[in-house]
Amino acid sequence: MLAPFTAGWQSTDVHPLVIDRSEGSYVYDIEGKKYLDSLAGLWCTALGGSEPRLVKAATDQLHKLPFYHSFWNRTTKPSLDLAKEMLSMFTAREMGKVFFTNSGSEANDSQVKLVWYYNNALGRPDKKKFIARSKSYHGSTLISASLSGLPPLHQKFDLPAPFVLHTDCPHYWRFHLPGETEEEFATRLANNLENLILKEGPETIAAFIAEPVMGAGGVIPPPKTYFEKVQAIVKKYDILFIADEVITAFGRLGTMFGCDMYNIKPDLVSVAKALSSAYVPIGATLVSPEISDVIHSQSNKLGSFAHGFTYSGHPVACAVAIEALKIYQERNIPGHVKQISPRFQEGVKAFAGSPIVGEIRGVGLILATEFADNRSPNNPFPAEWGVGTIFGAECQKRGMLVRVAGDNIMMSPPLIMTPDEVEELVSIYGAAIKATEERVAE
Ligand code: PLP
Repeated sequence: MLAPFTAGWQSTDVHPLVIDRSEGSYVYDIEGKKYLDSLAGLWCTALGGSEPRLVKAATDQLHKLPFYHSFWNRTTKPSLDLAKEMLSMFTAREMGKVFFTNSGSEANDSQVKLVWYYNNALGRPDKKKFIARSKSYHGSTLISASLSGLPPLHQKFDLPAPFVLHTDCPHYWRFHLPGETEEEFATRLANNLENLILKEGPETIAAFIAEPVMGAGGVIPPPKTYFEKVQAIVKKYDILFIADEVITAFGRLGTMFGCDMYNIKPDLVSVAKALSSAYVPIGATLVSPEISDVIHSQSNKLGSFAHGFTYSGHPVACAVAIEALKIYQERNIPGHVKQISPRFQEGVKAFAGSPIVGEIRGVGLILATEFADNRSPNNPFPAEWGVGTIFGAECQKRGMLVRVAGDNIMMSPPLIMTPDEVEELVSIYGAAIKATEERVAE
């Protein structure tokens, strides 16, 4: 079969693994081989691949009203109900309004426009710049890729856009100075952030954006006290805080939102992925009442907030998302994650002593393994050895799919995993580590 051009622009002469169907935490390829899906698709099928309530919600809505838009003061009941439910579920602080998109990238693009509109409405059009972090991932559109801190998303695209600045990646293992504690590291990063703000001029900085736990950049949980310190700095200079919860929302860390875990009080929040358990595309931005009030009250002066997508608030996507949110709450999915994640984390971290493992880090049901020679961040393996790729293939051979990004291996399994499935994951992981150790030693 001729391979199609796949996302990520892989070479067309490599045959992709063609996934055909899913059941719970497993997916099956077209030859019928079963795989434990340790990445939940792309960090998103939180309720696994066969939740009948989501299928029913979609089909019921398709029969009733497959589409109507949400423009010009018209909308649909599913989009109203979903917005209401999201606002009541987000308790880290009060939120005022929800703006629907089709993806996380669009949610983050929308953040930039919302913030600019807000600052324009307040008569401070020069407060325009965004500060993001190295190694962050915020999406693939021009603006969300600009916010992202991963060089391949910038090189050859003339990005980042000039209004985007990047500050330090909070990866303690890789970037701490000799003898520096986690708290001292967090203080140094907060100081660097403050220095960047002062250098640029606080009156030019509109917002700071951060994932509670960095995902695609290598699963990097924040060092102790990091968010406390960073929040104090941005508040001091009247800079908005955007929490990109596209991966962390709806239970992944063992709390409903990542903001709950780290006591983040954001002004704006992006969500997508688990919002519908990925059954249909949908994303959203939650906006604080202060911002939504200004946008509304100024609408006569500035004109309407001229931004929106045909499928913003798509009724089928909203109907599925409403059902997903009901399930997260009824089944206490964050509580389930809290229960099963210690074994997931400890089971995998038991291999941290392997001579090929640099660091294993994670929280809740998200985790990365970074390979390095002799466990040192200063000794990466030569890229041509392809250690991560070898490990990924060893997992796949044994019936588990992981995400391989160079020598970083990432996992974020479905949140409905059973304890037996966690054991299976740990066992395949361990066997793949041993097999990789042997191949590296060859
Ligand atoms: N933000 C974060 C933290 C993400 O992890 C992702 C995707 O992985 C995005 C934004 C972009 O979301 P999407 O791929 O739905 O555009």
